[in-house]
Amino acid sequence: MSKRGAPIAGLIAVLAWVWPVGAQDASSVLAAASRAMGVEALRTVRYTATGFDFALGQSGVPGAPWPKFINRSYTRSVDFQASASQVDRVRAQGEIPPYGGGLQPIQGDQPQSQTIVAGPSTPWVQQLEIFMLPHGFLRAAASRNPSLRRQGAYSVVSFRGENGAQVSGWINAQNQVERVETMIDNAVMGDMPFEAIYSDYRATGGVQFPMRIVQKQGGFPIFDLTVGDVTVNAPVNIQAPQAGGRGGAPAGRGAAGAGGGRGGAQAAASTTPSEQIAPGVYLFTGGYAPIAVDMGDHILFLEAGNNEARAQAVIAEAKRLMPNKPVRYVVATHHHFDHASGLRAFVAEGATILTHDWNAPYFRDVFARPHTLNPDAQQRAQRPLQVQGVGDRHVITGNGHTIELHRLMDFGHTPGMLVAYFPQHRVLYEADSYNPPAADAPPPATPSPYNQALLANIERLRLSVDRIVATHYPADGRVVTVAELRRMVGAN
Ligand SMILES: [Zn+2]
Repeated sequence: MSKRGAPIAGLIAVLAWVWPVGAQDASSVLAAASRAMGVEALRTVRYTATGFDFALGQSGVPGAPWPKFINRSYTRSVDFQASASQVDRVRAQGEIPPYGGGLQPIQGDQPQSQTIVAGPSTPWVQQLEIFMLPHGFLRAAASRNPSLRRQGAYSVVSFRGENGAQVSGWINAQNQVERVETMIDNAVMGDMPFEAIYSDYRATGGVQFPMRIVQKQGGFPIFDLTVGDVTVNAPVNIQAPQAGGRGGAPAGRGAAGAGGGRGGAQAAASTTPSEQIAPGVYLFTGGYAPIAVDMGDHILFLEAGNNEARAQAVIAEAKRLMPNKPVRYVVATHHHFDHASGLRAFVAEGATILTHDWNAPYFRDVFARPHTLNPDAQQRAQRPLQVQGVGDRHVITGNGHTIELHRLMDFGHTPGMLVAYFPQHRVLYEADSYNPPAADAPPPATPSPYNQALLANIERLRLSVDRIVATHYPADGRVVTVAELRRMVGAN
């Protein structure tokens, strides 16, 4: 008996390690973790922290970590029963000198707040702000038909999220949630990993709470917080934000569509005004401002718009203005997600992406990734992905047009930034090297190095510019001049 018993027990152990076990076991694992973590006892929590947030999709170099911002102060309140969360923080420039996007450089201290009160119609990615927290995960999993598998020393409990992706919590031998993982949709990266890592648990008020919180999206941190004070069951009163009051969304997520969602698209898509800035050169306003050029037998675009809906709207309007011509090229100025989130709509249209050699390998990688959670036009069309890299100077001619593409040198925003110059019309098209502020805005106390780099490049290339057209078009629609740029950087 004993001779045969040991191998069988070993086989059972192996099977238990690889085979999923039943829902009853998931429930008991959740119950044990909830008891140890104090889920029942924790109705609300307020915690302070210091650390960093990071702007998703705004890296200096394609494929590098997201650029960081200092969180001088950070207070988060969560009401688990009301599914409500409020973050108040003060941010400051983290990259010195400025490097990458995310509305750098931040001048001085920047207060921000974000409030979520989740109801049945709240977008899943916002509900995740609470479910990715350890106590929020345990609460959510308990009522969502969880499953269990064992992986090494961990019990991994999973449930199906409303976007179709599994949400998995890694529970250690001390019944602590060490990690929560899922996937969310991103217009550039497709099915994108979203991970939260919790460590340095401390007991307070009958509850275990992590003193270190790191969240990652797309493989790189978006938060790295060291928790200070934790107040269990603090009185909190989180009110839903007023309709339209999106101003408090953190940069790199809600702001500027940098999170890549297609959610903010409807307003931009509802109207597509355009202006013919030169014969056969159409500028689309009322949102991110691409340019379409009539190349005779086809249409060439500069910039793609900040999401799929905007891209599809400007493509449709260009085809109306220039009938029976295919969109054959789109020039991508750079890789930042707010500028790249419309590009796959052009791929679905059969267009080739022209971009600097710095960006081409990155686009070939990310635009080939699956978009199963929220299929976009290219996921359905599966057109061949064509990305053509260009060097520091590339001239396009046709149908009487000359378009010079130049790389901005010594430009901290990103090394592979292209601007487009129309020598016949003395027009310079640019993204993120000068985002025109309100017309009456005074020059910043410290000139933006990005604005300075644009001016230096205009001088280096000896461009004769009467008009600067910015992708982030000025709200008042004014003609922006080099004189305005000079004034904003304090040059005479
Ligand atoms: Zn940018």
